[in-house]
Amino acid sequence: MVTTDPLNARPRLYGEPQEVALDVFMHPAFVNTYAMRTPLGLLLVDPGLGNLADSVHQTVRAWSDAPLHTAVYTHGHADHAFGLRPFLAAGERPQIIAQENCPQRFHRYHLTHGWNARINQRQFSLTAPVFPDRFDWPTLTFRDSLTQRFGELEVRYYAAKGETDDACYVWVPARRYLFVGDLIIWQAPNCGNPQKVQRYPLEWANVLEEMAGLEAEWLFPGHGIVVHGRDAVRMVLTETARYLRVIIDQVLERMNAGQTPEEIFHGVEPDSELSKRPFLQARYDHPKFIVRNLLRLWGGWWNGNAADLLPAPWATQAAEIAQLAGGVATLVSRGRALLEQGDSVMAAHVAEWATRAAPDDRAAQMLKRDVYTRRLAEAESLMAQGIYRAATNDAKVALGEPPESGVGLGMGLESRG
Ligand SMILES: [Zn+2]
Repeated sequence: MVTTDPLNARPRLYGEPQEVALDVFMHPAFVNTYAMRTPLGLLLVDPGLGNLADSVHQTVRAWSDAPLHTAVYTHGHADHAFGLRPFLAAGERPQIIAQENCPQRFHRYHLTHGWNARINQRQFSLTAPVFPDRFDWPTLTFRDSLTQRFGELEVRYYAAKGETDDACYVWVPARRYLFVGDLIIWQAPNCGNPQKVQRYPLEWANVLEEMAGLEAEWLFPGHGIVVHGRDAVRMVLTETARYLRVIIDQVLERMNAGQTPEEIFHGVEPDSELSKRPFLQARYDHPKFIVRNLLRLWGGWWNGNAADLLPAPWATQAAEIAQLAGGVATLVSRGRALLEQGDSVMAAHVAEWATRAAPDDRAAQMLKRDVYTRRLAEAESLMAQGIYRAATNDAKVALGEPPESGVGLGMGLESRG
């Protein structure tokens, strides 16, 4: 789970829990939890997922029986900040450190629990809605930075924004250890997610470059494999920043030139060379989603089409299109033709019109099922796959067929071993 050659590495999400660097234990199971020995006890970076908490606890305790002095959440996401319970149940009382926006995130999770559970079900193709609703609240938060001394060993925490507004990274200068949470995930940055709250690409690029200036020897990411070597670490950080800047700069230039969101969405492309890096492939998020996210951040929600400002319901629009076409059957046969020609993008629009005009029409639902099965097969981004699979399943349910569940937390990477 360590590479010194990120250009030729094979990223993985799962591996044997083990000591990967001096005094640093790693538990890689979708998300990476790290435990570091300090003179005063253990520092736990990202306790992890609630359903893997027992595994984290058992393997960490098999590695060290030193008391858990401190835990830090690099951000409050469900896969990072929900694994402390077995340590607490065993009577440990660590300081729990997080950036100051983390508690607000937990409050929001409480307010929007059902919504988030359904997002996660759809995104990861789970069989049921799942989302945490019990929180191990931070005991110490900080705004910009925090320095903690474990005897001789100094640990610094720095606030960041990127995938979330409550991120931080952890820097251990004496060891040149850098724990970055999801600022590096061995994927194109998760900063466009179509179903989730605002992400911050520009601040993300800034903090990556700030971290590159630290001259770390070890980079411990939130997902994927550890990077060892000063040049390797700097390259992963600076190239990820550059990947973001290429998209950000195009969006800004086009926005400031007065282009519509539609033109900007279709016009912006990621850097073709950087997109091939093993640590920047878009198997989770999608560069076009980053464009959308920037438009949301810097623009209003209006899409540039005046009819969409105060629109008719989709079903009414679809009924009008079906009538123009001469009936739903014409839409279905046109959708089939498009699918056969390989144009699954347009076929999906036609399938939506057909099923929204006539939800009980079996041929329309069969078209929708087959269109999104194709789009699912063609999609490389897990976030797109999740939405296409959900749409396929909606059609299957309408047809009385059993829905299909998906790949779970594979994130497009090799799953085990
Ligand atoms: Zn994560």
